[in-house]
Amino acid sequence: MSTIKVNIVTPDGPVYDSEANMVIAVTSTGELGVLPGHIPMVAPLEIGAVRLNKDNGTERIAVSGGFLEVRPDKVTILAQAAELAEDIDTERAIEARKRAESRLQAKQDDTDFKRAELSLKRAMNRLNVAKGNI
Ligand code: ATP
Repeated sequence: MSTIKVNIVTPDGPVYDSEANMVIAVTSTGELGVLPGHIPMVAPLEIGAVRLNKDNGTERIAVSGGFLEVRPDKVTILAQAAELAEDIDTERAIEARKRAESRLQAKQDDTDFKRAELSLKRAMNRLNVAKGNI
């Protein structure tokens, strides 16, 4: 089966550099599946899972927003933060979820609400990716 190169980079450095049969990512307009030979495109990424289908199974990476650039032979993901499923610290994500939940319950202005909502989304995404739920 043909493969496509996949490169995931964050401000802290490279997180992933390998090949996959198919890349599935969550863009602002919905889920996008990329096979080798895909037409070139750029799309904003949501907080979500990037799934890499390989011969020996699926690898999952939690991505906290960014951009996806597709070329026929390569997918580049520039992410604000990205963690391989096995590198996710679930205790930390649970703590982050609790903090975000209590901030959402407290009375506060719109900016803080939005910030807490995004923090909750990142934490839930990390927990789901770590469990292999998405
Ligand atoms: P926290 O409140 O726990 O810091 P956060 O969502 O605010 O969570 P980010 O700002 O998205 O964290 O990420 C900061 C750095 O910490 C990034 O390098 C990210 O990959 C890493 N990181 C955040 N949460 C986790 C986690 N649960 N497991 C592994 N790495 C994490």
